[in-house]
Amino acid sequence: MTTPDTTTTPAEHSPLATAHAQLAAAVRHLGYDEGLHANLATPRREIHVSVPLRMDSGEVRLFRGFRVQHNVSRGPGKGGLRFHPDVDIDEVRALAMWMTWKCAIVDLPYGGAKGGVTIDPRDHSRAELERVTRRYTSEIMPMIGPDTDIMAPDMGTDERTMAWVMDTYSVNRGYTIPAVVTGKPIAVGGSLGRGTATSAGIVHVTEAALRQAGERLEGTRIAIQGFGKVGGHAAEIFAARGARVVAVSDQYGGVRADDGLDVARLVQHVAATGSVVDFEDADPVSNTELLALDVDVLVPAAIQGVIDETTAQHVRARFVVEGANGPTTTAGDEILAKNGITVVPDVLANAGGVVVSYFEWVQANQAYWWTAEEISEKLAHRMVTAYQDVAEHARRDGLSLRDAALTIGVQRVAEAHKIRGLYP
Ligand code: GLU
Repeated sequence: MTTPDTTTTPAEHSPLATAHAQLAAAVRHLGYDEGLHANLATPRREIHVSVPLRMDSGEVRLFRGFRVQHNVSRGPGKGGLRFHPDVDIDEVRALAMWMTWKCAIVDLPYGGAKGGVTIDPRDHSRAELERVTRRYTSEIMPMIGPDTDIMAPDMGTDERTMAWVMDTYSVNRGYTIPAVVTGKPIAVGGSLGRGTATSAGIVHVTEAALRQAGERLEGTRIAIQGFGKVGGHAAEIFAARGARVVAVSDQYGGVRADDGLDVARLVQHVAATGSVVDFEDADPVSNTELLALDVDVLVPAAIQGVIDETTAQHVRARFVVEGANGPTTTAGDEILAKNGITVVPDVLANAGGVVVSYFEWVQANQAYWWTAEEISEKLAHRMVTAYQDVAEHARRDGLSLRDAALTIGVQRVAEAHKIRGLYP
C-alpha cells in the first residue's frame, strides 16, 4: 500500500478541489485547527493497483485501479466501485471523502471509501468485465472485508459486478462472506429495495424540501439529467407520486414534454433502444439545455461538475436536488445561492443508496432478511430525519443546506476522532 500523496494541489474545478473547498467551509464554521483540518482532508489509506486484463481476443491490456479509505473513525470504510474511462486517483479521493460525510450525515456506523478502475465498461464483453473485476478484487483484497471496507455499485458497475467481487473475496477466504459488498443480487444476500434506494431517497428529500416551502410533490415540474440507475428510477418514482417529469436525458441526449413525459413508456423505449433519444411524443433537448429549463426541481443525476460557473447562471429551477456525486462546482454553487436556488446537496440527497446498503449489511450480518415494507419505511425515516436535521441546522446557523449538511457530517467524524484519542 502506498502512502497518500497530499502534497499536490488538485486541478482547479476537479471533484477533489470541490470536496476540499466544501470541507474548508465546514472546518471554518466549526473553528477547527489546522491539524484536525489536515487530518480530515487526507485519506487514511489508499492502494493503487495494476489490473491486467486478457481480452477475449487473447491480447492483454493493462488498466489502473484504486481503492481509497478516506476515513474509518466511525466504522468500516464504505463506498462504491466506479468503472469509468476518466477515473483517476484524485476523483476517487474526492468520492471517498464525500462518502465519509454522507455516511455521517445519515448517521451510519461507517467511514468513507471509494474504488475505481480507469476503464470504459461499454467497450468490454461480460467475460472481460468479469475478469477485470475479479483481478481488481484480488489486488485490493488486503484492504477490503466485511469489517474493514465494504464495496457497492457506482457508475459503470452493478449488482452483477458485486456478485463477482463477493465471489472472488469468498473463494479466496474459503467460505461465503455476503457482507463484504452491498448492492448484490437478492439471490446471494442482496436486500430488497437496494436497486431503487438512491432514487427513493431523492424523492423523499425533494418532498421534504417542497413541504418546507409549503409545496407538494403532486404536479411539481421536474427535469432529470441522467436516466441510469439513479435518474431512471427517480423519474419512475416521481411520476408514480404524481409529479410531472418534463425532461430527462442520458449521455446521448435528452427529451422533453412540457405536459409531462409518459415515464413508463419511456422506460420501455430505453429498454428497446438503449437511450431516451428519439422517444416519440417528446421534443429533443440537449444535456446543457435541460439544466436551463424552467422547472420547479432540477435533479442532476449523471456526472460531476455539470453545474459550473457557466451553466449555473442559466439554471431556472427553484430547487436543485443532487442525485449525482459532486454535480455542482464551488463556483456554480455560489451562483445558485446568489440566485436564491435551494440546493439539496449530494451527501444528503443521494444518501438513500448507502442507507439501504447499510440495511443490506446489517441483514447479511444477522443472516435474517427484512420485508420490502420494513426497508422502505426505515429508509423514509432516515432520509426525512436527516433532511430535518440539516434544515434545522441551516436555519439556526444561517447556512446553506450544503454547508449545514457538511458541518453535521464533519462534526460527527471529528467527534469520533476526538473521543477515540490519538494513538499512540
Ligand atoms: N455509490 C453509491 C454512492 O455514491 C452507494 C455507495 C454504497 O452504497 O456504499 O453513494
